[in-house]
Amino acid sequence: PPGDSGLTVRDLAVSYGPVTALRGISLEVPRGSVVTVLGGNGAGKSTLLRAISGTLRFHRGGITAGEIGFGRARLSGAATSAVVAHGVVQVPEGRKIFARMTVEENLRAGALGARDRRSASESRERVLTLFPVLAERARQRAGLLSGGEQQMLAIGRALMARPKLLLLDEPTLGLAPMMAARIADTVREINAQGTTVLLVEQNAALALSLASHAYVLEVGEVVLSGPAAELAESDEVRRRYLGIG
Ligand code: ATP
Repeated sequence: PPGDSGLTVRDLAVSYGPVTALRGISLEVPRGSVVTVLGGNGAGKSTLLRAISGTLRFHRGGITAGEIGFGRARLSGAATSAVVAHGVVQVPEGRKIFARMTVEENLRAGALGARDRRSASESRERVLTLFPVLAERARQRAGLLSGGEQQMLAIGRALMARPKLLLLDEPTLGLAPMMAARIADTVREINAQGTTVLLVEQNAALALSLASHAYVLEVGEVVLSGPAAELAESDEVRRRYLGIG
């Protein structure tokens, strides 16, 4: 139905002062889907998520052309708080949990926008069901968690805001394969519960196994896109991003 179209990015360009980081980016994340953006270091993946989440300004960057829409809402030009209010929440790269606060306090911080106490406590139940380890460690300082647990906390904190669209920036970066696989399972589960996911990853194999559709970024431009299963079979992707062939 109209107005229920998910995320649409059209002809987006982003600069940091004199540095152009993205140009001519167009992509779609249909409601209910998992879409991934692949690319190496510096390709512009984080910049894309910052443009969508309204956090570019905190990095001295800005949108210089194009449009970003989510359903009926226009996100380009919107403040971060307005983007969150439209149901779009980013889990930043490097996790950025509040290390000196407890796990519980971190989760509560994610619910600051919650409409009422009951919906906050429902969200908390959902997060602790997804990540039982966070319940076990509720009173511990977040900085004492393992890398994988910190990633779970960062995702859990974002879920406290009840996003319709979750933006994930390299959630498996630096994690052991077992832990990366657990995070991937959780992303599947979050999606199955109805949350749309835009996943930025350097781990192409993992990302392509999760996503229905993929885009490949190189130096700020989309160089390849298509159904994830097709990209996983493409010679170029296999050679450059999967290390095969
Ligand atoms: P990585 O995985 O290394 O974070 P990425 O694909 O996420 O890579 P971005 O971080 O989006 O890439 O960076 C894209 C380009 O923009 C790079 O050339 C980078 O140097 C530049 N850039 C990123 N942040 C800033 C900033 N705050 N000021 C100036 N240039 C920046």
